[in-house]
Amino acid sequence: MDRAIDLRSDTVTQPTDGMRQAMLNAPVGDDVYGEDPTVNRLEARMAEMLGQEAGLFVTSGTLSNLLAILTHCQRGEEYIAGARAHAYLEEAGGGAVLASVQPQPVENEPDGTLDLDKVVAVIKPDDFHFAVTRLLCLENTFFGIPLPLHYLTNVQVLGRQHDLRTHLDGARVFNAAVRGDVPVSTITSGFQSVSACLSKGLGAPVGSVLTGSREFIAQARRWRKMLGGAARQVGVLAAAGSYALDHHISRLSDDHEQAERLAELLATVDEAKVHETPQRTNMVFVSFPSDQLTDLRDHLKERGILITAKENPVRFVTHLDVAPTDIELTVQAIKNYFRTGGA
Ligand SMILES: *Cc1c(COP(=O)(O)O)cnc(C)c1O
Repeated sequence: MDRAIDLRSDTVTQPTDGMRQAMLNAPVGDDVYGEDPTVNRLEARMAEMLGQEAGLFVTSGTLSNLLAILTHCQRGEEYIAGARAHAYLEEAGGGAVLASVQPQPVENEPDGTLDLDKVVAVIKPDDFHFAVTRLLCLENTFFGIPLPLHYLTNVQVLGRQHDLRTHLDGARVFNAAVRGDVPVSTITSGFQSVSACLSKGLGAPVGSVLTGSREFIAQARRWRKMLGGAARQVGVLAAAGSYALDHHISRLSDDHEQAERLAELLATVDEAKVHETPQRTNMVFVSFPSDQLTDLRDHLKERGILITAKENPVRFVTHLDVAPTDIELTVQAIKNYFRTGGA
């Protein structure tokens, strides 16, 4: 089979030739000594872009969020996060297990925000019966939805009023910035820490950067060492990240256009219910007749098209390796499936 059309996630991209060349040519050193120039450059650059003082290159977004929890909170304190947020639901309980920090979930609103009245309602009073509420974690984009800028301002006000630190899980924050046509720092600079992924829409094979104040990052560096996450000549990987920052940010608008096009075309398929969104980035959520999901997935797979179809809604994600014709081919294959009577 030729290259598959893989719409399962934006994590499936192959490093481009230019990216591989940058990795090949990267000057490197021992990053545990702080001597890898390519890592140092990436960390400083990401921090500057996000309006933060310093950065720390880590293997994954999960490690980055965990380091943020470990660094902001003491054992026995608590962090607030969305009930559907990655940092609550999809990080194997690391905050509780490894940081001994209690998560306090708050249900996410349909637009991805946390209702700030609901947040205030779960902040614990100063009473020894309760964990000390220390940190508020937000996620942007949330299931592909950029959080509104005025909402982010309100979050910072709330943080100051209630002496809460704020962390942004910005795995896809560059998608939010491009979609909103603002510098990414407009979104991120008010947070005490921000994590951004290089291995999602930006197309690097690995890595996230955690950013925050110099003091915060110095402490996070100690935690990273403790967790076995300090690495040596890791500039070969950081080079891919730097390359992505140079070449793969503005092109995210292509992914957003492709997703919009996919949504438009799928809206013409009777059996497909495209979920509406206040603002679309690179994801489309679609419900199909649930008894046909597995069969539809297999039908598409036989035609070289990969989707995750465990349950409704199905998430389609566009990225660097999705060509405009792939969108047409996918919709055509879905139409054919239903036209021939489905299962
Ligand atoms: C992917 C993702 C992460 C974690 O990143 P990994 O590199 O997969 O550990 C964290 N938060 C969000 C919102 C993500 O989408």
